[in-house]
Amino acid sequence: MKCEQREKVEDLLSEQAIEIIKNLEIGAYVVSPEREILFWNDKAYEITGYTSGEVIGSFCQDNLLRHVDELATELCIHGCPLLETIKDGTIRKARVYLRHKAGYRMPVKVETLPIKVNNETKGAIEFFQEDTEELNLSEELRRTREKALICPLTEIGNRRYTEQVLEDRLEEMKRMNSSLGLFFIDIDDFKHINDTYGHPIGDIVLKMVARTLVSIMRPYDFVGRWGGEEIVAIVPHVKQEELFELGERLRKLISASSIKTTQGRLGVTVSIGSTISFKEDTFDSIIDRADKMMYESKRNGKNRVTVYS
Ligand code: GH3
Ligand code: MG
Ligand code: MG
Repeated sequence: MKCEQREKVEDLLSEQAIEIIKNLEIGAYVVSPEREILFWNDKAYEITGYTSGEVIGSFCQDNLLRHVDELATELCIHGCPLLETIKDGTIRKARVYLRHKAGYRMPVKVETLPIKVNNETKGAIEFFQEDTEELNLSEELRRTREKALICPLTEIGNRRYTEQVLEDRLEEMKRMNSSLGLFFIDIDDFKHINDTYGHPIGDIVLKMVARTLVSIMRPYDFVGRWGGEEIVAIVPHVKQEELFELGERLRKLISASSIKTTQGRLGVTVSIGSTISFKEDTFDSIIDRADKMMYESKRNGKNRVTVYS
């Protein structure tokens, strides 16, 4: 930790309090009255992807974390709960979204508390954790799950659902004289991950990849599990020339994400094959083309995108 900020934290909290906060199983950070980030615990890193070195010394209002409410209002600039707490010395709770370093938005529950010295607010602490209710209980998801179309592990569409959506979207594209982009995504060396870290960690990796993909998709895009460690993304109304860049965005985000294991942080990469849809495509023919392109990415060294041309 940077010395200057360490001294400021020690003016606010005892050594013991700092040690407890450091090891909490929820994210926590401490700010000065000017909202300079003075302390950032390990769980905060795990949730956001930002290390303490990256955030300590920056100010909330620099907007690294991009807290937004459900209407996408930038809270760090307009209506920051930490700032309100510093002003009036009272505890606040809120549900907000923050941006993970890898780029995706995630719902979190936050609680802000004043840190008082001699009854005067000299700083504040924010606790935050992933809002799993918000993640799990969207009405749409619940309804879909009831129809047995969701893969329970990854919480994305299962094979049957994916086939159905692909068929529908292909019809729709034909009707509208438009085209969709299909991405066939296969995790690299997944067997090795299972063999090295165990199947349950493999499951977590799979979930993380699925969630990362879902989080950056637009409302009309679709992500489904095709089989084992193969995921399909369907993106309507795109052009051939946009596919590579889109695929690269997916690939880079995944390669920038990681999970924490007892053996250290574990990252993962994917090989992607992509193709635009043609009028005569059936879901078999388009999947087959994208799968072949994915195989090209594997053959050329993995962690890459190949687009059909
Ligand atoms: P490549 O880079 O060529 O894709 O190699 P790979 O190891 O990813 O591919 P391979 O097809 O050899 O192995 C896929 C592995 O994925 C084998 C299988 O046990 C594992 N797998 C499939 N479904 C699941 C799952 O739901 N959970 C876990 N943990 N593993 C799974
Ligand atoms: Mg595979
Ligand atoms: Mg694989």
